[in-house]
Amino acid sequence: MSEYTKLRNCELFLFDMDGTLYLGDEVYDGAIALMEDLPNLGKRYIYLTNNSSRAGVDYITRLRRLGFPCEAENVFTSGMATGQYLNQNHPGASVYLAGTRAFYRELQSYGVRLVNDENGHTEADTVDVVVQGFDTELVYEKLERACHFLRRGAVFIAANPDWVCPMPGDEVLPDCGSICALLTASSGVKPNYIGKPNRSMVDVISRMTGIPNEKICAVGDRLYTDIAVAQNAGAVSVLVLSGETDQAMVDAAERKPDYVLPSVKELHSILK
Ligand SMILES: [Mg+2]
Repeated sequence: MSEYTKLRNCELFLFDMDGTLYLGDEVYDGAIALMEDLPNLGKRYIYLTNNSSRAGVDYITRLRRLGFPCEAENVFTSGMATGQYLNQNHPGASVYLAGTRAFYRELQSYGVRLVNDENGHTEADTVDVVVQGFDTELVYEKLERACHFLRRGAVFIAANPDWVCPMPGDEVLPDCGSICALLTASSGVKPNYIGKPNRSMVDVISRMTGIPNEKICAVGDRLYTDIAVAQNAGAVSVLVLSGETDQAMVDAAERKPDYVLPSVKELHSILK
């Protein structure tokens, strides 16, 4: 049995994007060729992101503009996972969403019963669930309403746990995890996070595609999200060293990825 047998046996590949396939607008060498060739190799793929500020359709547009093949079924965001999670675990529940308009429309498309409008206004006095996203359109009213509902017993669900969203030029944006920390401080309620590294992301995709977790491979550049989600879900993991993780960080890690490769170009060579 070759050392790559487990990798070659995978039927579905989940790709992180930034730091894995491209950085900003710079597409990595061999990344598009790999994605174009995967169907020929009998493999399915999904672009997977924790970013809950944008909808799935926004990623289709961006990936196509960069030259990647992408259909609707190839994109999965933490916002979409949240919609599926709500339908499975809180069917028919009334939901207050503190998130972007894009996330709002995404949850609407899953039939989630939202009590507020796109801007966070609501007349409701109690709700079953508060959902928090990476809200780049945050206003104080949303924080005040979310805090109000949480203190009255609403379940707290958050799309993704990231503290910050990395930006070019060593800048960061406060992400969903940081907004949740504010709400936890004011309400005493901690959220259940849906995005990576929570195994829900992989479990939901496994149910959607009918492919068991052990035949799913997560490919990414972050140990604590992209690799951890695979480890938590019993899936296969490939760390690429083209993003924020270097070999020294891998050596220091307690839980090692199944495979460590310089970039997705080498992954293509192995699968061919
Ligand atoms: Mg990344």
